[in-house]
Amino acid sequence: MDDGDIAERVLAGDRAALARAITLVESGRADRQERGLQLLDRCLQHTGNSIRCGITGVPGAGKSTFIEALGLHVLDTDEEARIAVLAIDPSSPVSGGSILGDKTRMPRLSAHERAFIRPSPAGDTPGGVAARTREAILLCEAAGFNRIFVETIGVGQSEVAVASVVDFFLLLMLAGAGDELQGMKRGVLELADLVAFNKADGANRERAEAARKQLEGALSLFASHPDVVTCSARTGDGIAHIWSLAQDIVAREDIQAKRSAQAALAFERELERTLRTRFLANDSTRALMASLEQEVRAFKISPAQAARRVFQIDA
Ligand code: GDP
Repeated sequence: MDDGDIAERVLAGDRAALARAITLVESGRADRQERGLQLLDRCLQHTGNSIRCGITGVPGAGKSTFIEALGLHVLDTDEEARIAVLAIDPSSPVSGGSILGDKTRMPRLSAHERAFIRPSPAGDTPGGVAARTREAILLCEAAGFNRIFVETIGVGQSEVAVASVVDFFLLLMLAGAGDELQGMKRGVLELADLVAFNKADGANRERAEAARKQLEGALSLFASHPDVVTCSARTGDGIAHIWSLAQDIVAREDIQAKRSAQAALAFERELERTLRTRFLANDSTRALMASLEQEVRAFKISPAQAARRVFQIDA
């Protein structure tokens, strides 16, 4: 199958071709990535028609259970809906695999004929995650998926990266699980359009409601802040409400303007990456950097001075 065929088949909604195209854009090999990007170019006219929703939360917050519940709700209530789930795992660049990988985490959704589930290894840089996720989202749209859920674990900078490629960002939290761990201090809250305390069921219901009130009170001090709700991915309570809030927020905002700004930012990041890659491709530059690093380590030269030397700037 040549790349033209893959593009045709992506546009026809073929999942195997879509998976292959995503693998290409995500590839660490420059030639494959280039093929992926060209393939995407052929599909670009057919992108944009979706709601792009990011979902984050610490491991165990209930993200996969939640996405399964939300996805099934969306599919049940909207027969035009076609769902793609992109799961980003920022923690396993070494194995190159994905701990979010097994589709069994969303068994009913992954068996659904109008759903596509795709785990993605995160690669080595948060910027890289966002860059490839962006392309993966576009490819899913080209294949006719119009509700895109991007899942990421609440660690490190992956939220920032994901927030820069979605229309709507949901933070799933747990009552009493340690606010600092969950993003209060790391600024994830600032990225969220909506915060939901999950597992608001059984004996935990009241605790979740209390946590919701407390956070709402704290956030009310700020001029602009996300709504705070409770839900249970297990019982389904609150899921429909969250989806309707998401749709309201997306309808209220100027999504085209938001996406334009995101595209400009992606361009800037892409330029930075390209500059870096091209620059480091030169053997003598790398050798110079290595020897200067030794001098820096031995305190023979300041880091700033060493950097200037690399660029041959006169001090
Ligand atoms: P993830 O790591 O954020 O994807 O979390 P999972 O979806 O794998 O859920 C972690 C655990 O919490 C699993 O045992 C789920 O069954 C459980 N869980 C998820 N959502 C709920 C919920 O709403 N209520 C309750 N009681 N348990 C839940």
